Amino acid sequence: MTVTDLTRLSAASLASKIASKEVSAVEVTTAHLDRIAAVDERVHAFLHVDREGALAAARKVDNGEITGPLAGVPIAVKDVVTTKGVPTTAASKILEGWKPPYDATIVERLKQAGMPILGKTNMDEFAMGSSTEYSAYGATNNPWDLGRIPGGSGGGSSAALAAFEAPLAIGTDTGGSIRQPGAVTGTVGAKPTYGGTSRYGLIAFSSSLDTPGPCGRTVEDTALLHSVMAGYDPRDSTSINAPVPDVVKAARLGKNGDLSGVKLGVVKEFAGDGSEPGVLSSFHESLEKLVKLGAEIVEVSCPNFQYALPAYYLIAPSEASSNLARFDGVRYGLREGDDGNRSLEEVMSLTREAGFGAEVKRRIIIGTYALSSGYYDAYYGQAQKVRTLITRDFQSAFERVDVLVSPTTPFVAFPFGSRTSDPYQMYLADLFTIPTNLYGGPAISVPCGLSEGLPVGFQIMAPTMADDRMYRVAAALESAVGSFTPPEL
Ligand code: GLN
Repeated sequence: MTVTDLTRLSAASLASKIASKEVSAVEVTTAHLDRIAAVDERVHAFLHVDREGALAAARKVDNGEITGPLAGVPIAVKDVVTTKGVPTTAASKILEGWKPPYDATIVERLKQAGMPILGKTNMDEFAMGSSTEYSAYGATNNPWDLGRIPGGSGGGSSAALAAFEAPLAIGTDTGGSIRQPGAVTGTVGAKPTYGGTSRYGLIAFSSSLDTPGPCGRTVEDTALLHSVMAGYDPRDSTSINAPVPDVVKAARLGKNGDLSGVKLGVVKEFAGDGSEPGVLSSFHESLEKLVKLGAEIVEVSCPNFQYALPAYYLIAPSEASSNLARFDGVRYGLREGDDGNRSLEEVMSLTREAGFGAEVKRRIIIGTYALSSGYYDAYYGQAQKVRTLITRDFQSAFERVDVLVSPTTPFVAFPFGSRTSDPYQMYLADLFTIPTNLYGGPAISVPCGLSEGLPVGFQIMAPTMADDRMYRVAAALESAVGSFTPPEL
């Protein structure tokens, strides 16, 4: 088997080949490190590659020290997740050179599972954005068309999968940053139930929304990673102390392609306006395929979803303005203007001026304003009420249907620079993904077709703690539509 072949395999088949000693974990890890060396100059999915660390972890599996369902399968981790001793920047200048003294819980779990960490992936600064263009270290290029965005904020993780640089990756989803990059790169991305995956060691953006989750090229691979990373963590006060839904079983069940008795709710408010025609036609063709598998389609109205975007863009920046207060030049990374003649406040302000990019500053300013005493009720308070109404829309929809479905994004991967001049145009990329974050339920994006040669994603949203349900439908859809591979790089 040649090196390139190893990078083309699914995580599930790599794991079984490693377990049966047909290949070693070191060979598999080396193949991916070599692929990164060969293509990442063009893709720029990685901010940091940890060759030595990954190989050391692989050797532990080959020595028989660690076994398990994904032992020896390498993985890429979004740079907003702390990795002990390995640079973690959240793609910001303000954290340049910072090496965390501890691992995030999810990283600990990857290590316990024997998964070599290839490196840290590129993203929009502090996970704020939808294209990776707001990375302080330059954008990631979509392997489908290097002149287009790979989605965001976790574009690096999804691009690494599409470019065969990693078989699995970790992302984080605050408003769509796992699902939207999955959709535009033709890969799978799942946002688990909020609290189903630990936030301990995740650099906080919007704590009531942030959800780490799995990214893969197949639904089954994504489910396998989900089950390794998820589960109760006493170090995260919002972690759910309940068994993780059996997502792997559900994904395998879905593969047999039988959806009889499953009710899919098509969100009326997401059915038309604003989506590209190619996205809508892929979505409708997929619905027809799901009907052929036995699913029943029900139109569902969620009238408050139209307010999700404005509510999110008050709640998320408000929480961000508070969370980002800790980056002050004293505790982490960059420190500007500390020449012995300046006050502490001057040093803090020079550090924040030099260390944060424009979008991060915009969020801090919006959030600080929305939380200020004179405006709190009018903005933040109002947005929280809308959040409750959106949750009720979900709850009443799930009385009638098993899952809700929509396109993941209104448009396919767009060219660089086409949405950066108007923040609102960028925010629209998350129109269909944000309601789920405000509600807290799980959702997954699965590739469903191509529009003008670029991938389209299909979103499946499920009730909280029913993550298994969305995997079943996703696997069934995948078996009906197949997978999509970008042109050779
Ligand atoms: N694009 C959205 C934002 O900019 C979502 C980001 C995310 O999910 N991290 O806030």
